Amino acid sequence: MTSSSEGEILQVGQVIRERWKIKAKIGGGGFGEIYEATDVQNHHERVAIKVESSKATKQVLKMEVAVLRRLQGKKHACKFYGCGRNDKFNYLVMSLQGKNLADLRREAPKQCFNLSTAVRVGLQILNGIREIHSIGFLHRDVKPSNFAMGRTSQTMRNVYMLDFGLARQYLNAKGEIRSPRSAAGFRGTVRYAAVTAHKNKEMGRQDDLWSLFYMLTEFLQGQLPWRKIKDKDEVGKMKEEADLNVLLDDCPNELHLFAAHLKTLGYADTPDYNYLESLLNKIVKDNDISWEEPYDWELG
Ligand code: ADP
Repeated sequence: MTSSSEGEILQVGQVIRERWKIKAKIGGGGFGEIYEATDVQNHHERVAIKVESSKATKQVLKMEVAVLRRLQGKKHACKFYGCGRNDKFNYLVMSLQGKNLADLRREAPKQCFNLSTAVRVGLQILNGIREIHSIGFLHRDVKPSNFAMGRTSQTMRNVYMLDFGLARQYLNAKGEIRSPRSAAGFRGTVRYAAVTAHKNKEMGRQDDLWSLFYMLTEFLQGQLPWRKIKDKDEVGKMKEEADLNVLLDDCPNELHLFAAHLKTLGYADTPDYNYLESLLNKIVKDNDISWEEPYDWELG
Protein backbone atom coordinates (compact mmCIF):
# COMPACT_ATOMS: atom_id res chain seq x y z
CA MET A 1 0.00 0.00 0.00
CA THR A 2 1.27 3.45 -0.86
CA SER A 3 1.37 6.10 1.83
CA SER A 4 1.51 9.04 -0.57
CA SER A 5 -1.67 10.36 -2.11
CA GLU A 6 -0.25 9.34 -5.47
CA GLY A 7 -2.01 6.31 -6.81
CA GLU A 8 -4.92 6.70 -4.42
CA ILE A 9 -8.28 6.84 -6.05
CA LEU A 10 -9.90 9.57 -3.94
CA GLN A 11 -8.50 12.69 -2.29
CA VAL A 12 -9.47 14.12 1.09
CA GLY A 13 -11.96 16.95 0.55
CA GLN A 14 -13.30 15.49 -2.70
CA VAL A 15 -17.12 15.32 -2.90
CA ILE A 16 -18.81 12.45 -4.72
CA ARG A 17 -22.14 13.11 -6.42
CA GLU A 18 -22.46 16.40 -4.50
CA ARG A 19 -23.19 14.31 -1.47
CA TRP A 20 -20.33 12.38 0.13
CA LYS A 21 -17.30 14.36 1.26
CA ILE A 22 -14.12 12.33 1.73
CA LYS A 23 -12.51 12.70 5.16
CA ALA A 24 -9.78 10.05 5.34
CA LYS A 25 -8.61 6.73 3.98
CA ILE A 26 -9.35 4.00 6.50
CA GLY A 27 -8.42 0.78 4.78
CA GLY A 28 -7.78 -1.17 1.68
CA GLY A 29 -4.96 -2.46 -0.34
CA GLY A 30 -6.62 -5.66 -1.39
CA PHE A 31 -9.07 -5.06 -4.18
CA GLY A 32 -10.36 -1.67 -3.20
CA GLU A 33 -9.77 1.30 -0.98
CA ILE A 34 -12.00 2.29 1.93
CA TYR A 35 -12.60 5.89 2.90
CA GLU A 36 -14.51 7.58 5.66
CA ALA A 37 -16.79 10.33 4.36
CA THR A 38 -19.69 12.46 5.55
CA ASP A 39 -23.07 12.85 3.93
CA VAL A 40 -23.38 16.62 3.36
CA GLN A 41 -27.04 16.18 2.40
CA ASN A 42 -27.90 14.32 5.58
CA HIS A 43 -26.65 16.02 8.74
CA HIS A 44 -23.06 15.09 7.91
CA GLU A 45 -23.73 11.51 8.87
CA ARG A 46 -20.49 9.51 8.77
CA VAL A 47 -20.33 6.79 6.12
CA ALA A 48 -17.80 4.39 4.59
CA ILE A 49 -17.08 4.38 0.86
CA LYS A 50 -15.40 1.48 -0.90
CA VAL A 51 -13.90 2.38 -4.26
CA GLU A 52 -12.32 0.41 -7.06
CA SER A 53 -10.46 1.91 -10.00
CA SER A 54 -12.22 1.46 -13.34
CA LYS A 55 -8.86 0.21 -14.58
CA ALA A 56 -8.67 -2.59 -11.99
CA THR A 57 -8.20 -5.91 -13.75
CA LYS A 58 -10.47 -7.68 -11.33
CA GLN A 59 -13.74 -5.79 -10.97
CA VAL A 60 -15.40 -7.04 -7.80
CA LEU A 61 -17.39 -4.07 -6.56
CA LYS A 62 -20.40 -5.00 -8.67
CA MET A 63 -20.57 -8.32 -6.82
CA GLU A 64 -20.16 -6.57 -3.47
CA VAL A 65 -23.05 -4.25 -4.29
CA ALA A 66 -25.25 -7.16 -5.36
CA VAL A 67 -24.55 -9.08 -2.13
CA LEU A 68 -24.89 -6.08 0.19
CA ARG A 69 -28.22 -5.12 -1.41
CA ARG A 70 -29.63 -8.58 -0.85
CA LEU A 71 -28.42 -8.55 2.74
CA GLN A 72 -30.31 -5.36 3.60
CA GLY A 73 -32.35 -5.71 6.77
CA LYS A 74 -30.12 -8.49 8.11
CA LYS A 75 -28.58 -7.98 11.52
CA HIS A 76 -24.93 -8.34 10.55
CA ALA A 77 -24.97 -6.34 7.30
CA CYS A 78 -23.94 -2.70 6.85
CA LYS A 79 -26.62 -0.36 5.56
CA PHE A 80 -26.43 0.26 1.83
CA TYR A 81 -26.60 3.97 0.93
CA GLY A 82 -25.69 4.11 -2.73
CA CYS A 83 -23.33 3.13 -5.48
CA GLY A 84 -22.24 4.36 -8.86
CA ARG A 85 -19.45 4.65 -11.36
CA ASN A 86 -17.69 7.17 -13.52
CA ASP A 87 -14.75 6.95 -15.90
CA LYS A 88 -12.26 6.81 -13.00
CA PHE A 89 -13.81 4.61 -10.32
CA ASN A 90 -16.71 2.49 -9.07
CA TYR A 91 -17.96 3.18 -5.55
CA LEU A 92 -20.18 1.73 -2.85
CA VAL A 93 -21.46 3.83 0.07
CA MET A 94 -22.43 2.03 3.29
CA SER A 95 -22.71 2.60 7.01
CA LEU A 96 -19.46 3.28 8.83
CA GLN A 97 -18.50 0.72 11.48
CA GLY A 98 -15.88 0.72 14.21
CA LYS A 99 -12.71 -1.35 14.56
CA ASN A 100 -12.31 -4.72 12.92
CA LEU A 101 -11.65 -7.86 14.97
CA ALA A 102 -8.08 -8.28 13.70
CA ASP A 103 -7.13 -4.87 15.09
CA LEU A 104 -9.03 -5.49 18.33
CA ARG A 105 -7.24 -8.80 18.88
CA ARG A 106 -3.83 -7.29 18.12
CA GLU A 107 -4.52 -4.54 20.64
CA ALA A 108 -5.54 -7.06 23.31
CA PRO A 109 -2.99 -7.75 26.09
CA LYS A 110 -1.97 -11.28 25.06
CA GLN A 111 -3.31 -11.01 21.53
CA CYS A 112 -6.21 -13.11 22.64
CA PHE A 113 -9.78 -12.60 23.74
CA ASN A 114 -11.18 -14.10 26.89
CA LEU A 115 -13.66 -16.95 26.50
CA SER A 116 -16.62 -14.64 27.07
CA THR A 117 -15.65 -12.23 24.29
CA ALA A 118 -14.55 -14.97 21.88
CA VAL A 119 -17.71 -17.02 22.19
CA ARG A 120 -20.14 -14.08 21.99
CA VAL A 121 -18.33 -12.67 18.96
CA GLY A 122 -18.22 -16.20 17.51
CA LEU A 123 -21.98 -16.60 17.86
CA GLN A 124 -22.55 -13.34 16.01
CA ILE A 125 -20.15 -14.32 13.22
CA LEU A 126 -21.90 -17.69 12.92
CA ASN A 127 -25.18 -15.86 12.43
CA GLY A 128 -23.59 -13.45 9.94
CA ILE A 129 -22.40 -16.47 7.94
CA ARG A 130 -25.86 -18.02 8.20
CA GLU A 131 -27.33 -14.78 6.80
CA ILE A 132 -25.12 -14.67 3.72
CA HIS A 133 -25.72 -18.37 3.08
CA SER A 134 -29.46 -17.76 3.38
CA ILE A 135 -29.33 -15.41 0.35
CA GLY A 136 -27.51 -18.05 -1.69
CA PHE A 137 -23.93 -16.80 -1.38
CA LEU A 138 -20.72 -18.02 0.23
CA HIS A 139 -18.43 -15.33 1.68
CA ARG A 140 -15.18 -17.22 0.98
CA ASP A 141 -12.93 -14.81 2.93
CA VAL A 142 -14.08 -15.18 6.53
CA LYS A 143 -11.31 -13.68 8.68
CA PRO A 144 -11.07 -11.25 11.60
CA SER A 145 -10.39 -8.15 9.48
CA ASN A 146 -13.63 -8.80 7.62
CA PHE A 147 -15.74 -8.34 10.74
CA ALA A 148 -16.12 -5.02 12.54
CA MET A 149 -17.94 -3.87 15.63
CA GLY A 150 -20.50 -1.09 15.23
CA ARG A 151 -19.57 2.46 16.07
CA THR A 152 -22.67 4.07 17.58
CA SER A 153 -24.23 3.46 20.96
CA GLN A 154 -26.94 1.36 19.27
CA THR A 155 -24.54 -0.74 17.19
CA MET A 156 -21.27 -0.96 19.10
CA ARG A 157 -22.00 -4.44 20.50
CA ASN A 158 -23.09 -5.83 17.15
CA VAL A 159 -20.70 -7.51 14.72
CA TYR A 160 -20.86 -6.51 11.02
CA MET A 161 -19.66 -8.66 8.15
CA LEU A 162 -17.57 -6.80 5.56
CA ASP A 163 -16.05 -7.41 2.15
CA PHE A 164 -18.02 -9.49 -0.33
CA GLY A 165 -15.33 -9.20 -2.99
CA LEU A 166 -14.78 -12.96 -3.05
CA ALA A 167 -18.38 -14.00 -2.54
CA ARG A 168 -19.81 -16.64 -4.85
CA GLN A 169 -23.32 -17.79 -5.50
CA TYR A 170 -23.75 -21.45 -4.53
CA LEU A 171 -27.43 -21.59 -5.49
CA ASN A 172 -28.71 -21.13 -9.04
CA ALA A 173 -31.80 -19.13 -9.99
CA LYS A 174 -33.99 -22.14 -9.18
CA GLY A 175 -32.54 -22.33 -5.69
CA GLU A 176 -30.63 -25.52 -6.44
CA ILE A 177 -26.99 -26.06 -5.49
CA ARG A 178 -24.75 -25.23 -8.45
CA SER A 179 -22.63 -28.13 -9.59
CA PRO A 180 -19.11 -27.89 -8.22
CA ARG A 181 -16.25 -27.13 -10.62
CA SER A 182 -13.64 -29.89 -10.69
CA ALA A 183 -10.93 -27.30 -10.05
CA ALA A 184 -11.20 -23.79 -8.65
CA GLY A 185 -8.44 -21.23 -8.09
CA PHE A 186 -7.43 -20.56 -4.49
CA ARG A 187 -9.55 -17.80 -2.97
CA GLY A 188 -9.29 -16.27 0.44
CA THR A 189 -6.58 -15.82 3.01
CA VAL A 190 -4.05 -18.57 3.73
CA ARG A 191 -4.24 -18.33 7.53
CA TYR A 192 -8.01 -18.87 7.73
CA ALA A 193 -8.76 -20.84 4.55
CA ALA A 194 -10.42 -24.24 4.80
CA VAL A 195 -8.50 -27.29 3.58
CA THR A 196 -10.89 -27.43 0.59
CA ALA A 197 -9.54 -24.07 -0.59
CA HIS A 198 -5.94 -25.18 -0.13
CA LYS A 199 -6.73 -28.11 -2.42
CA ASN A 200 -8.17 -25.77 -5.07
CA LYS A 201 -11.53 -27.45 -4.75
CA GLU A 202 -14.92 -25.79 -4.98
CA MET A 203 -15.79 -24.28 -1.61
CA GLY A 204 -19.06 -24.98 0.14
CA ARG A 205 -20.94 -23.55 3.09
CA GLN A 206 -18.92 -25.57 5.60
CA ASP A 207 -15.73 -23.86 4.43
CA ASP A 208 -16.87 -20.43 5.68
CA LEU A 209 -17.52 -22.22 8.97
CA TRP A 210 -14.04 -23.79 8.99
CA SER A 211 -12.67 -20.27 8.72
CA LEU A 212 -14.81 -19.31 11.72
CA PHE A 213 -13.39 -22.32 13.57
CA TYR A 214 -9.82 -21.12 12.89
CA MET A 215 -10.81 -17.61 13.98
CA LEU A 216 -12.24 -18.89 17.25
CA THR A 217 -9.13 -20.95 17.89
CA GLU A 218 -6.92 -17.92 17.25
CA PHE A 219 -9.09 -15.70 19.47
CA LEU A 220 -8.70 -18.13 22.34
CA GLN A 221 -5.10 -19.28 21.87
CA GLY A 222 -3.70 -15.95 20.65
CA GLN A 223 -2.20 -17.59 17.58
CA LEU A 224 -2.45 -20.39 15.05
CA PRO A 225 0.49 -22.76 14.54
CA TRP A 226 0.83 -21.76 10.85
CA ARG A 227 0.82 -18.01 11.50
CA LYS A 228 4.33 -17.44 10.17
CA ILE A 229 4.20 -19.77 7.19
CA LYS A 230 3.55 -18.17 3.85
CA ASP A 231 3.53 -21.26 1.67
CA LYS A 232 -0.08 -22.14 0.92
CA ASP A 233 0.56 -25.86 0.40
CA GLU A 234 2.54 -26.19 3.60
CA VAL A 235 -0.21 -24.47 5.61
CA GLY A 236 -2.81 -26.72 3.96
CA LYS A 237 -0.80 -29.76 5.02
CA MET A 238 -0.48 -28.45 8.59
CA LYS A 239 -4.24 -27.95 8.80
CA GLU A 240 -4.93 -31.43 7.48
CA GLU A 241 -2.50 -33.04 9.88
CA ALA A 242 -3.31 -30.82 12.88
CA ASP A 243 -3.96 -32.70 16.10
CA LEU A 244 -7.08 -31.01 17.46
CA ASN A 245 -6.09 -31.96 21.01
CA VAL A 246 -3.02 -29.77 20.61
CA LEU A 247 -4.68 -27.02 18.55
CA LEU A 248 -7.56 -26.78 21.03
CA ASP A 249 -5.50 -27.33 24.17
CA ASP A 250 -7.45 -25.90 27.14
CA CYS A 251 -10.40 -24.88 24.93
CA PRO A 252 -13.95 -26.02 25.72
CA ASN A 253 -14.82 -29.48 24.41
CA GLU A 254 -17.63 -27.97 22.33
CA LEU A 255 -15.00 -26.69 19.89
CA HIS A 256 -13.99 -30.30 19.22
CA LEU A 257 -17.64 -31.07 18.50
CA PHE A 258 -17.83 -27.99 16.26
CA ALA A 259 -14.94 -29.29 14.13
CA ALA A 260 -16.33 -32.83 14.21
CA HIS A 261 -19.60 -31.61 12.69
CA LEU A 262 -17.78 -29.68 9.95
CA LYS A 263 -15.77 -32.81 9.13
CA THR A 264 -18.97 -34.65 8.25
CA LEU A 265 -19.96 -32.06 5.62
CA GLY A 266 -19.30 -32.09 1.88
CA TYR A 267 -19.95 -29.48 -0.81
CA ALA A 268 -23.68 -30.07 -1.17
CA ASP A 269 -24.52 -30.55 2.50
CA THR A 270 -26.37 -27.96 4.56
CA PRO A 271 -24.49 -27.27 7.79
CA ASP A 272 -26.50 -27.66 10.98
CA TYR A 273 -26.22 -24.01 12.02
CA ASN A 274 -28.57 -24.56 14.96
CA TYR A 275 -26.36 -27.35 16.30
CA LEU A 276 -23.23 -25.20 15.96
CA GLU A 277 -25.07 -22.34 17.67
CA SER A 278 -26.15 -24.67 20.48
CA LEU A 279 -22.52 -25.71 21.02
CA LEU A 280 -21.42 -22.10 21.42
CA ASN A 281 -24.45 -21.36 23.61
CA LYS A 282 -23.48 -24.29 25.83
CA ILE A 283 -20.10 -22.61 26.38
CA VAL A 284 -21.94 -19.41 27.33
CA LYS A 285 -24.12 -21.27 29.80
CA ASP A 286 -21.46 -23.52 31.34
CA ASN A 287 -19.21 -20.53 32.00
CA ASP A 288 -21.94 -18.24 33.38
CA ILE A 289 -21.27 -15.75 30.60
CA SER A 290 -23.78 -12.92 30.41
CA TRP A 291 -24.57 -11.06 27.17
CA GLU A 292 -24.42 -7.82 29.10
CA GLU A 293 -20.86 -8.17 30.33
CA PRO A 294 -18.25 -5.99 28.60
CA TYR A 295 -16.26 -7.19 25.64
CA ASP A 296 -12.49 -7.24 26.23
CA TRP A 297 -11.97 -3.92 24.45
CA GLU A 298 -14.69 -2.25 26.53
CA LEU A 299 -12.78 -2.83 29.75
CA GLY A 300 -10.98 0.34 30.84
P1 ADP B 1 -10.47 -5.11 0.76
O1 ADP B 1 -11.44 -5.86 -0.08
O2 ADP B 1 -9.65 -4.11 0.00
O3 ADP B 1 -9.67 -5.99 1.68
P2 ADP B 1 -12.36 -4.61 2.88
O4 ADP B 1 -13.76 -4.44 2.45
O5 ADP B 1 -11.95 -5.93 3.43
O6 ADP B 1 -11.38 -4.18 1.70
O7 ADP B 1 -12.02 -3.50 3.95
C1 ADP B 1 -10.70 -3.34 4.46
C2 ADP B 1 -10.76 -2.73 5.84
O8 ADP B 1 -11.43 -1.48 5.80
C3 ADP B 1 -11.56 -3.58 6.83
O9 ADP B 1 -10.74 -4.52 7.46
C4 ADP B 1 -12.07 -2.54 7.82
O10 ADP B 1 -11.10 -2.26 8.80
C5 ADP B 1 -12.26 -1.31 6.93
N1 ADP B 1 -13.66 -1.21 6.50
C6 ADP B 1 -14.26 -1.78 5.44
N2 ADP B 1 -15.56 -1.48 5.39
C7 ADP B 1 -15.82 -0.70 6.46
C8 ADP B 1 -16.99 -0.07 7.00
N3 ADP B 1 -18.19 -0.16 6.41
N4 ADP B 1 -16.85 0.66 8.13
C9 ADP B 1 -15.66 0.77 8.75
N5 ADP B 1 -14.54 0.20 8.31
C10 ADP B 1 -14.61 -0.54 7.18
